[in-house]
Amino acid sequence: MAGQSLAMSRLVVVGAGVSGVSAAAAAVAAGATVTLLDQGRQPGGRLGLRRLPDGRPVDTGAAYLTARSDHFRAHVDDWRRVGVIAEWTDTIDVVDGDGWHRGVPGPMRWAAPAGLRGLVEHDVATLVERSGVVAEQTRVVAVLPDATGVNVVAAPWPTAPAPDSAPATSPIPAGEPPQVTYRADGVILAMPGPQARRLGPAPGPDYEPVISVWAGYAHREWRAFAAAFINDHPILGFLADDGSRRGDGAAVLVAHTTADFAAAHLDDPDGAHGPVLAAVAEVTGWGGEPSVSGVMRWGMARPIATETAPFGWCGDRVAVCGDSWHVAAGERSRVESAWLSGRAAGSALAGLDTR
Ligand SMILES: Cc1cc2nc3c(=O)[nH]c(=O)nc-3n(C[C@H](O)[C@H](O)[C@H](O)COP(=O)(O)OP(=O)(O)OC[C@H]3O[C@@H](n4cnc5c(N)ncnc54)[C@H](O)[C@@H]3O)c2cc1C
Repeated sequence: MAGQSLAMSRLVVVGAGVSGVSAAAAAVAAGATVTLLDQGRQPGGRLGLRRLPDGRPVDTGAAYLTARSDHFRAHVDDWRRVGVIAEWTDTIDVVDGDGWHRGVPGPMRWAAPAGLRGLVEHDVATLVERSGVVAEQTRVVAVLPDATGVNVVAAPWPTAPAPDSAPATSPIPAGEPPQVTYRADGVILAMPGPQARRLGPAPGPDYEPVISVWAGYAHREWRAFAAAFINDHPILGFLADDGSRRGDGAAVLVAHTTADFAAAHLDDPDGAHGPVLAAVAEVTGWGGEPSVSGVMRWGMARPIATETAPFGWCGDRVAVCGDSWHVAAGERSRVESAWLSGRAAGSALAGLDTR
């Protein structure tokens, strides 16, 4: 039965990154009722966001998105109409052993004035307000299919105050809260394969890590650029000018490390801070001291392989989707592949096969 249209009317989507929210939207459009669960304080997954002390957002996960397919372009147009996305640049520079080279114009890279995470937050709010989607913050710990449906077992994060500070009259018992079970006809695991495998057998490639280091400076003295791919560097893989990306000219840079460098610092990401900032100074030729900076660790940043299939099946009632799926041969995983994969999984499980 796996892979056929099953017309499931009650779906649970686990993961509210790009793929999960797209899956939820497609399932609702096909007539399903959807519960969307994510362990994060905000939806968005790898659309990472940090804020400067004055509240200004900095993208610390995905740097931008591109839109090549008609379906995703139409969705980007919707985002543009409501003002949550904006064109950034079509030109990314290249830095290699011979120095800094002006990039060749390519596809438009889109950015979001409030951060890319705002795109997913916008879509979740729309689904909740207009389509009755229930969105909850909870960590799923098991997905248990049976003959007639699936039990999704979740362990909400403890909300009780620590025992020391709990007032005697607190209505919330301290300690681990009880588990909650959601019953569904079908489940979509919208997350990297290795995360899905914590919940049960699931297909999908392993992922490699990246560490992001962001830094705000009192002023900018580096060359004018939007972003640069850093080739053959032991530490840096990518550098973005966040002031260019956000259009406010703020003196903020965001560096992404190579996978090898990140793997060596996963247990001590703060130890990456100094070496990355030194590498940024080397590459930009400017050694200003940041007034504010931080580190973000992505243990599963990018899949090490991709699938052309739109999504995968874990038995008859459970599908897995995300950025490693729906990738044409020779292409790379990206925000767009996550969105397309989620859309295909949501449509298929809800009974409307749009693959
Ligand atoms: C540093 C970095 C730079 C990148 N740069 C780019 C770029 O420039 N352009 C581009 O197109 N792409 C880029 N990407 C990739 C892009 O971010 C991803 O392709 C996309 O965000 C993946 O979305 P997703 O929904 O598949 O997965 P995710 O965003 O990982 O979402 C999975 C969600 O599942 C939740 N979850 C997992 N397990 C559980 C559980 N047990 N219970 C509840 N919730 C759970 C997580 O909290 C998460 O929110 C980058 C990624 C990183 C990390």
